[in-house]
Amino acid sequence: MYGNILYVVIPCYNEEEVLPETARRLKDKMEDLIKKRMISEASKVIFVNDGSKDCTWELIEKLHEKDYFYGGINLTRNRGHQNALLAGLMMAKEYADMVISMDADLQDDINAVDEMVEKYQSGIDIVYGVRSSRAKDTFFKRATAEGFYKTMKFLGADTVFNHADYRLMSKRAIEGLAKFKEVNLFLRGIIPMVGYPSDFVYYERGERFAGESKYPLKKMLAFAVEGITSLSIRPIRLITVLGFFIFLISIMMLVYSFIRHFMGATIIGWTTLMVSIWATGGLILLSLGVVGEYIGKIYLETKGRPQYLVEKFLHDKAGEDVEKDE
Ligand code: UDP
Ligand code: MG
Repeated sequence: MYGNILYVVIPCYNEEEVLPETARRLKDKMEDLIKKRMISEASKVIFVNDGSKDCTWELIEKLHEKDYFYGGINLTRNRGHQNALLAGLMMAKEYADMVISMDADLQDDINAVDEMVEKYQSGIDIVYGVRSSRAKDTFFKRATAEGFYKTMKFLGADTVFNHADYRLMSKRAIEGLAKFKEVNLFLRGIIPMVGYPSDFVYYERGERFAGESKYPLKKMLAFAVEGITSLSIRPIRLITVLGFFIFLISIMMLVYSFIRHFMGATIIGWTTLMVSIWATGGLILLSLGVVGEYIGKIYLETKGRPQYLVEKFLHDKAGEDVEKDE
C-alpha cells in the first residue's frame, strides 16, 4: 500500500440535504489522491451524527452498507459541533496517520485537501485551513464572526484568525489533544496549545451547499462565550480593573461633594445619585455574572462528565481493523 492513511471527519447535525453530495465529492477527491499515491487506499470518510432529528443517520448507514469507504459514528444525542468533532478525531486517530476535519455543508473548499496532505508529507503536524475571504458569507455572519475573532484576541484567547474547524492533524497531534482533559471544549483555542510544527492553507469560503446554518445567533453567542471563558481569565482581571477605576471615581465624587457642601449648594445631586446607584448596581451584577460564568465552568469540570457517548461505530466489516502496513 502506498501513502499514509487519511481520515476525513465530518460532524453532521440535520444534514440530510447536503450529505449525499458531500459524500460524493469527497469520494472523488480522495480517489484522485489515492491515484496520485498521495494517500493510502485504506483512507476513509467518517461521518459523526450529532443526534440529528432528520434522516442523517439512516443516510450514513446506507452509505456505509454500499461502500466501506464511508464510516459513521452515531452519538447518543446532540452534544454540539465541538464534541461531535472530538468524538470523530478520537475514533479516527486509532486508524489514521492524519485526520482532516471539515463541515458537512461544503463551505470549506475540499480542493485545499491536496495542499494539506502535501504539507503533512513535508513534516507538518497541524495544517490550519484559513479563509482568505468571506465574500460569500452574509454581511451579518461576516461581521459577527470577525468581531468574534477580534474580541477573542483582545480577551487573551489565542486563536488563528479566520480559521474554523477545517484542519489537518497528524496522529501524534491528536494524541496530544487527547491529553487535554477539559470538558468545556473549544478546539480552535486548544489546538494551538498542542504545539508541533504547524502551517496554513488558504482557501475561499463558499456558500452552504444546501440546508440552513446550524449556528443561529443564540448558538453563536454561546459559542463565543464558551471560547472566551474556556481560554482566558482576562474578563475577571478586567472586572478588577473596572472596580479599581470606579473606586477612584467614587473618591473624586466624595471630594467634589465636600466642595459643593462648603459652597452651600447641597440640594442638587439627585441626578448623580440616581446615575451612580444604577451604574454601580449594573456593574456589580455584570461582574457577578462573569465570575459566575467561571464558577459554572469549574462546576462542570469537577463533574468530569463524558463529552460524548457513542451509540454505534460503523467502520469495517465486522469492526475489523484495517490493515495498516503493506
Ligand atoms: N453541527 C453539529 N452539531 C451541532 C451544530 C452543528 O455537528 O449542534 C455541525 C454541522 O452539521 C456542520 C458544522 O457543525 O457540519 C458547522 O455547522 P454550520 O455549517 O451550520 O455552521 P456555520 O457554517 O453556519 O457557522
Ligand atoms: Mg457552514
